[in-house]
Amino acid sequence: MKNIAIIGAGISGLYIANLLSQNSNYKITIYEKNSSVNLEKGYGIQLSVNSIKLLNQINFQKISVKDKFHPHKLDFYSLKNNKKICDLDISMFNSTDRKYTTLQRSTLINFLKDGLHENIIYYNKKVIKINEEAENKEVSFEDGLSVKCDYLIISDGTFSKTKSLIANKETKPKYFNSIALRATIDQDALKGINPDNISLFLGSNLHSVLYPVNSKGQFNFITIFRKKLSTKELSDYSLFENKDFAASIMSEISKQVPTETINNLKSIKCFPIFVSSDVNEPKNKDTFIIGDAFFALPPTFAQGASQSIEVAHELYKNLENEKTQFNSERIKRVRMINMKSKLNYFAFHLSNPLIIWIRNLIMQKLVKNEKFINSYLGKIYKD
Ligand SMILES: Cc1cc2nc3c(=O)[nH]c(=O)nc-3n(C[C@H](O)[C@H](O)[C@H](O)COP(=O)(O)OP(=O)(O)OC[C@H]3O[C@@H](n4cnc5c(N)ncnc54)[C@H](O)[C@@H]3O)c2cc1C
Repeated sequence: MKNIAIIGAGISGLYIANLLSQNSNYKITIYEKNSSVNLEKGYGIQLSVNSIKLLNQINFQKISVKDKFHPHKLDFYSLKNNKKICDLDISMFNSTDRKYTTLQRSTLINFLKDGLHENIIYYNKKVIKINEEAENKEVSFEDGLSVKCDYLIISDGTFSKTKSLIANKETKPKYFNSIALRATIDQDALKGINPDNISLFLGSNLHSVLYPVNSKGQFNFITIFRKKLSTKELSDYSLFENKDFAASIMSEISKQVPTETINNLKSIKCFPIFVSSDVNEPKNKDTFIIGDAFFALPPTFAQGASQSIEVAHELYKNLENEKTQFNSERIKRVRMINMKSKLNYFAFHLSNPLIIWIRNLIMQKLVKNEKFINSYLGKIYKD
């Protein structure tokens, strides 16, 4: 019997726990620093077919059709003149049981949590120390207790403290010079879009995305925009909960996003975007890092959760085969997706009118070019 400790009950930790619990040779425990899993009700998540295939291995297909959505296309609009630029058929990689899916984060998290035995997750367990010297690793928590394990899986997100503890130095993500504003909105408040698709609005130094999160007319709204912040502002996370700061962000985005949309947004939340600079591999052969702790991607390819699921699945397969290292292909893949996410960010945030005009012409050609789509999206969605 192998004792496996998983740090963090986010998408990656919960998913790998679901996979590992299929094998009775593993005793799994998840240690989560908060008092419950983070449900963030209302907000959405996009899952491409590469992760749907892996989620189906734990019966994701059984989630009620009312609680998820399968968009057909990605419609690109210009925020300046509200005109459609072009559309991209994202359903071209779908098959009968694997469809591009949008849903509420809480639906995904609840599904992952419900697949586990209740007593697997220990809450209020913040890791403060790791001792990897002994044969059995020892994990110590803020409450003074500690546990021993054979395998340690680190899945505590972008700001992973556990990663810093095993590296014996602070491994910090870097600020992506961008802020995200997230909200929910009802379909009735949306005019001039096709509600069966994902709508992506391109502005100057800013883009917004709207998509349904279920079949009940609820939509997720997200705007990402360029904003430099000082070290002082970044060190004070309470700033992002401050009403005046949120109001100043709203006033900035309302210069480009239609007033009717702005006035109908609910549950608005803004936060800075942090990304990884490179992959950090643990030195100890029985310690593994997955999810955003492994690599936090820019959100402009909507691949963070899908990659968290892919990496977790690969680790599960490795453990089953007693292989303890991610192969170099994984690192190449995450770098390729990182590069494409940055390229999307660059293309979505242009501000010069002439360059925007050229970009729009190029996009209109590319979305119809099957060879390009198969290479740009297919390499991520099909592998
Ligand atoms: C604006 C934005 C939009 C996005 N949209 C999409 C999308 O549409 N599609 C997509 O695929 N991805 C998207 N992502 C990315 C996606 O949300 C993440 O990649 C994914 O949630 C990562 O999951 P995780 O389990 O690695 O980390 P997290 O979800 O961050 O979970 C980490 C868990 O660890 C816990 N924890 C932290 N520290 C400790 C500690 N010391 N001890 C114990 N527990 C600890 C935390 O409380 C948390 O529960 C988006 C990201 C952003 C920023």
